[in-house]
Amino acid sequence: NQQIVLDNRPQGEAVASNFRLVLTDTPALEDGQVLVRHHYLSLDPYMRGRMNEGRSYAAAQRLGEVMMGGTVGEVVESRHPRYAVGDKVLGMGGWQEYSVVDGAAVGALRPVDTSHVPLSYYLGAVGMPGVTAWYGLVRIIAPKEGETVVVSAATGAVGSAFAALAKARGCRVVGLAGGADKCRYALQELGFDACIDYRQYAGDVKALSQALKPACPNGIDGYFENVGGPIMDAVMLRMNAFSRIALCGMIAGYDGAPLPMRNPALLLINRTRLEGFIVSEHMQVWPEALTELATLVGAGKLRPRETVAQGIAAAPQAFLGLLKGKNLGKQLVKLI
Ligand code: NDP
Repeated sequence: NQQIVLDNRPQGEAVASNFRLVLTDTPALEDGQVLVRHHYLSLDPYMRGRMNEGRSYAAAQRLGEVMMGGTVGEVVESRHPRYAVGDKVLGMGGWQEYSVVDGAAVGALRPVDTSHVPLSYYLGAVGMPGVTAWYGLVRIIAPKEGETVVVSAATGAVGSAFAALAKARGCRVVGLAGGADKCRYALQELGFDACIDYRQYAGDVKALSQALKPACPNGIDGYFENVGGPIMDAVMLRMNAFSRIALCGMIAGYDGAPLPMRNPALLLINRTRLEGFIVSEHMQVWPEALTELATLVGAGKLRPRETVAQGIAAAPQAFLGLLKGKNLGKQLVKLI
């Protein structure tokens, strides 16, 4: 069983040498345990936060232990009556090829149906990132038909699901993404009405805000924030009265860069409601959100792309790439 453990904590930017590849034997199963062979590992921005020590909403990743992470795979051995060999399951197996799971632990493994939804989608559009988009849009932004909503990191796992959900509610949907290819994909495949390549403006808040003007002729009613920094400042200059901001992520600061907000008075002037959220604290919405997301995928209205690295040894580089925008769509590692 090849595993990636956290060897040491990043000093500033995360680097490949923070991780270490180790080889272990999978232990013999005890009664009640299940052995899962992972097909895909999910790489997610939140993992960067766990690499640090210090105060956060979640405990830090422990040094010398297997990096945490969502996985989908197949039961290859079972000593629990609820699981049979061949069952496809979603779990938190971590950065490794196999995991041993206590079959009785609540929520440790969830069987998934791959007859209509590909297995890997349970880590993306029909999984945690999809539900994240759903919660921020439906519960925080709560748009009315015809309103304009904007999302940053628009073509990523969360952003692409956001677009489909917002179109289904009759919104005008505008994205911010890094590069012309991502913007083309946003328009042609994800259903965005407009997409702006923020890199063209190199952190110039005024210029980016000007670029948003024709894309959002009626201003912005809802903003789903994934990035922070100058992108957020530029969007805030276009927000309408009584607008809402779902503060989901601030990836531009995950490596430690400070992210000052240029003009917080705009929140007051526009009576904007800003709410941060953590999707795992809202388990009550997951069934409804997952049902809608699976339906959108089935109807071809949500066509997520994936960037797939091959083999567990490739996980650290793929993860560092995700933090730099090298991924197009959901970043995965394929393990078999
Ligand atoms: P993505 O698939 O969107 O990948 C991350 C993307 O972030 C990159 O592709 C890149 O897109 C963008 N990015 C990276 N660095 C920067 C930077 N310095 N400035 C601007 N953009 C950058 O990841 P996810 O969809 O999985 O996650 C999106 C966001 O949602 C993250 O902030 C994440 O932390 C957050 N999240 C929050 C959750 C919650 O419960 N609150 C749950 C899940 C995710 P581009 O090239 O377009 O800039």
